[in-house]
Amino acid sequence: MTGFEFVPGVRLESGRGRTGVISTPHGTIETPAFIAVGTKATVKAVLPESMSRLGAQALLANAYHLYLQPGSDIIDEAGGLGRFMNWPGPTFTDSGGFQVMSLGVGFKKVLAMDTDGLGHDDVIATGKSRLAQVDDDGVTFTSHLNGSKHRFTPETSMRIQHELGADIIFAFDECTTLMNTRSYQELSLARTQAWAQRCLEEHHRQTKLRADRPYQALFGVVQGAQYEDLRRKAARDLESLSVAGYAFDGYGIGGALEKENLGAIVGWVSEELPEHKPRHLLGISEPDDFFTAIENGADTFDCVSPSRVARNAALYTRDGRFNVNTAAHRRSFIPIDDECDCYTCANYTRAYLHHLFKAKEMVASTLCTIHNERFIVRLVDDIRASIETGDFEAFKVEFLGRYYARKRAVAQ
Ligand SMILES: [Zn+2]
Repeated sequence: MTGFEFVPGVRLESGRGRTGVISTPHGTIETPAFIAVGTKATVKAVLPESMSRLGAQALLANAYHLYLQPGSDIIDEAGGLGRFMNWPGPTFTDSGGFQVMSLGVGFKKVLAMDTDGLGHDDVIATGKSRLAQVDDDGVTFTSHLNGSKHRFTPETSMRIQHELGADIIFAFDECTTLMNTRSYQELSLARTQAWAQRCLEEHHRQTKLRADRPYQALFGVVQGAQYEDLRRKAARDLESLSVAGYAFDGYGIGGALEKENLGAIVGWVSEELPEHKPRHLLGISEPDDFFTAIENGADTFDCVSPSRVARNAALYTRDGRFNVNTAAHRRSFIPIDDECDCYTCANYTRAYLHHLFKAKEMVASTLCTIHNERFIVRLVDDIRASIETGDFEAFKVEFLGRYYARKRAVAQ
């Protein structure tokens, strides 16, 4: 008995979408579910009590950030991520691979990879400062905080994630970019597969070593960029792995995805993976992506956008996104969205939020994040309900038609 289980529910008539329930030692997650992002063990500007009140079911933090600050040993000593941040519900951590390897891309620098045997085009760029170096054993990187050198291997990522103690953790994988060539993607996939085996072995060892702790479910991460054969093979290869009877408990779908390929990629992977294991899509952005991901088989997904854009005064409504910072809202004594049931919409006006942003008051971010997080949580709740009642297609057409109506009107 691990305390971890996924029970699929209603299946879409067309497509691979479904409802389900993930059980973890810290509670259940009804899927499809949006997993709110709390990178550094906090959803920026919002208390965990507010996240719980607005219906968030689980939070996802990042192993890379927490390893550097405050240190995963401190979170271990505190009793794990949930207890440390006062979030009693289920938690996820991602492996840190993406953050470490995007130190090149994300910080407008360059990722230098093992270039042996590769042609000129296989190398992303040269001559700029290198923050991360990938080799077959792991990644050496420079901290974005203080320039100190660190090394992540599959084993260290597993040890860190066991110290962090989240209910769902991810295997350490190599993240490529869309700029990599097909031949590099093939090499990278072989490396990720070898790392997946090492992650399972170390996970098994840590689980035995820390048998007094709640069970942590390990998800393998399917890479393969935009290539159908690589994605399908990666999914099958990961599912074939096991160590002493331990296989992956679920799967993450990772890598750089182009918006137009998102549905196809999730669909290929979902077709290869077994129905009784949950599938998490790592990092997506906008409301139309949620429909695409869900109808193609993603059960959970994380998304930093609701809180990130809220801090820049961008707010979601059923009629699309708008910015409350614009002059039009100075005397707008109405809620952000009169159809919203969040705390902010019940108590505050656009004019007040406009004022808070202009005056650079911190509570502006708090109130706007509460609204955006609630908007997305509720949207995904509505999608789940529509799958249960057989109205998914109708709901999708109605929601997207309205959400993007203004954009279409402007375009015409
Ligand atoms: Zn609201």
